[in-house]
Amino acid sequence: MSAESTTKARPTYALALTEVRAVERVSPNFVRITFGGADLDEFGTPGDVFDARIKLIFPPEPHAIPAIDRDSDDWWGSYLAVPEHERGSMRTYSVRELTTTDAGTEVVVDFVLHLEPGLTGPASTWASSAEVGQPLFIVGPRRGIPATEHGGAEFAPGTARSVLLAGDETAAPAIARILEDAPRGLRGTAFIEVPTAADVLRIDAPAGVEVTWLPRAAGGAHGTALMPAVLAHLGDTAASLEVRDIDGDELLWETPEYSGLGEDIAVTDAPADRYFWIAGESGVVTTLRRHLVKDLGVDRSQVAFMGYWRRGVAMRG
Ligand SMILES: Cc1cc2nc3c(=O)[nH]c(=O)nc-3n(C[C@H](O)[C@H](O)[C@H](O)COP(=O)(O)OP(=O)(O)OC[C@H]3O[C@@H](n4cnc5c(N)ncnc54)[C@H](O)[C@@H]3O)c2cc1C
Repeated sequence: MSAESTTKARPTYALALTEVRAVERVSPNFVRITFGGADLDEFGTPGDVFDARIKLIFPPEPHAIPAIDRDSDDWWGSYLAVPEHERGSMRTYSVRELTTTDAGTEVVVDFVLHLEPGLTGPASTWASSAEVGQPLFIVGPRRGIPATEHGGAEFAPGTARSVLLAGDETAAPAIARILEDAPRGLRGTAFIEVPTAADVLRIDAPAGVEVTWLPRAAGGAHGTALMPAVLAHLGDTAASLEVRDIDGDELLWETPEYSGLGEDIAVTDAPADRYFWIAGESGVVTTLRRHLVKDLGVDRSQVAFMGYWRRGVAMRG
């Protein structure tokens, strides 16, 4: 038996015990937290992050880190082996920045603070009171594994001639990272809905991508600024979309390569005019999907529609 065949493939995801290095309230609704620590030396590939999802494990108490075996190749099994009341809660986030210097690797995450009484989850609670020195487990793609191979990044425009990126504030960090990691020749449009005008943040986008921030009207529901902007961009000024109630607790996840709804996926090699990437509140994304695919005939093999959170539903990691 060759040495190669006896070597076990390393998992494409790495578990890192990090510590908070900086906390910055960058706008009324975003707190930007920088994580560091030696474990991050195996984490993420600078310049090839895009919208890779990472998992953060929020402990039941700020310093009560769960006893997950960091040397295990099965971080998920090791996490599940921790008694439920000590395990904490896992939530999904995006990498806003990944930097490596001689001093080590730092990962920056932009957290939306949604602090409605009775509707505040463990991630928002943790982020709103995070302090330098606090520990946190983060799971993310292992360094050196291309974004196309670790299975956590969805942005895949292929040979499309332009892109349309659209999302709410939870998708803003992913859109920013996509645009900063994309080839400088990328062309297209990005629409980002945020709670207020003061939540507009800097993105170093390619010159050929027009980024439009869409502050919601005071008290406006999610989607009320984003949906009309996307429709107007597509020249569909007649439609007026209402976010419909959807059954179940699952998030919508429909990409050119995966269908959470179990739909057939027809792979086409033909270059497309436009690739769509749409993420945010699941009901809003579902409503846009129905309209784009069913009414406007957009080819579903050119669209990634991703529910990033669901109104009234706590995520399960
Ligand atoms: C791939 C991916 C990437 C993501 N990237 C980011 C990111 O970079 N930054 C980020 O902030 N979020 C991001 N999210 C969304 C984040 O995972 C959810 O918002 C998550 O629900 C937050 O967990 P929580 O513990 O605060 O609330 P939960 O316990 O999950 O939910 C508690 C309550 O809060 C409500 N809620 C959750 N999020 C919001 C919100 N944004 N606004 C209003 N109400 C809300 C829920 O509807 C529920 O009623 C991402 C999600 C995915 C799937």
